[in-house]
Amino acid sequence: MPKTEHWQWYVEEFFPTEQHHHAIEQVYYAGRSQFQSIGVISTPVLGKMLILDGDTQSAQHDEKIYHESLVHPAMAGAADRSDVLILGGGEGATLREVLRHPDVRRCTMVDIDGDVVDLSKRYLPEWSAGAFDDPRARVIVGDALKFLADDPDRYGVIISDLTEPLEDSPSNPLFCDEVFRDIKARLADGGVYVLQASTAGFHNMSLHAKMARTLRGYYKHVVSFYTHVPAFDNDWAFIACSDAVDLSRLEESVVNAYCDKLKGENFFYDGTTHRRIFALPLYLRRELAKAGETF
Ligand code: SAM
Repeated sequence: MPKTEHWQWYVEEFFPTEQHHHAIEQVYYAGRSQFQSIGVISTPVLGKMLILDGDTQSAQHDEKIYHESLVHPAMAGAADRSDVLILGGGEGATLREVLRHPDVRRCTMVDIDGDVVDLSKRYLPEWSAGAFDDPRARVIVGDALKFLADDPDRYGVIISDLTEPLEDSPSNPLFCDEVFRDIKARLADGGVYVLQASTAGFHNMSLHAKMARTLRGYYKHVVSFYTHVPAFDNDWAFIACSDAVDLSRLEESVVNAYCDKLKGENFFYDGTTHRRIFALPLYLRRELAKAGETF
């Protein structure tokens, strides 16, 4: 392995006062779409990586930790998983995970950036693993904001796999009270809405708490869960919302029975993992219990 000074580095500015460095093995793509800057690189530790607007989106060697967490607890708890909607999800890995369940009849994925989808197909085919060609997949290149306003259907599971709502990110307008209301209107009875919900590190959990506080105005059960994701070099949080089910109370045996029906093997998620990711540390529970800002 070459010494440190011989590497080129991808530096993710996580916060103005926190940087994460990854050695670059190869640059597959570096450019800009109409919506954001896009990088596809490979690193010795995490394999290939997708970077949007300087923010790591997912990495080859650990993306299953993120995508199985995002998709399967919600799918396991939903009353009906035949029709699923994904907002964002450009790499196709969220789509891949949804389509592993035989109950799924249709999975609609709406991503604003056709370049992310095309580059992912070209350089990151391991992420989608054929999901884009599955006849149950309906892939729409368009703004999720517009889709939610125009689409009349209701879905048993809605998954938000959008970029972080940074100031000039195309996902930013989707993080507001009215859109949370529109999403609720698209959810079928007994349905679950789950979102990737920013970091849950003890030093930077305020955005996550703000999302949870806003969503509590809409759903009976708003439950945070989290796990460490090496590519993000942080604890990553998700929020599951439902009027019908509190996912933190899902029995281990129910989760395992759900997982047994999935095509292929899980890497990360099962009944034991479910218990662990829904068991929140005291500092996070305290933060979530506090009153504070909403969207
Ligand atoms: N795991 C990721 C993370 O860490 O933020 C999210 C993954 S995925 C690559 C995010 C996707 O959201 C991108 O492909 C981006 O194009 C899409 N996106 C952002 N804003 C959007 C919008 N308004 N409508 C639809 N898709 C959007």
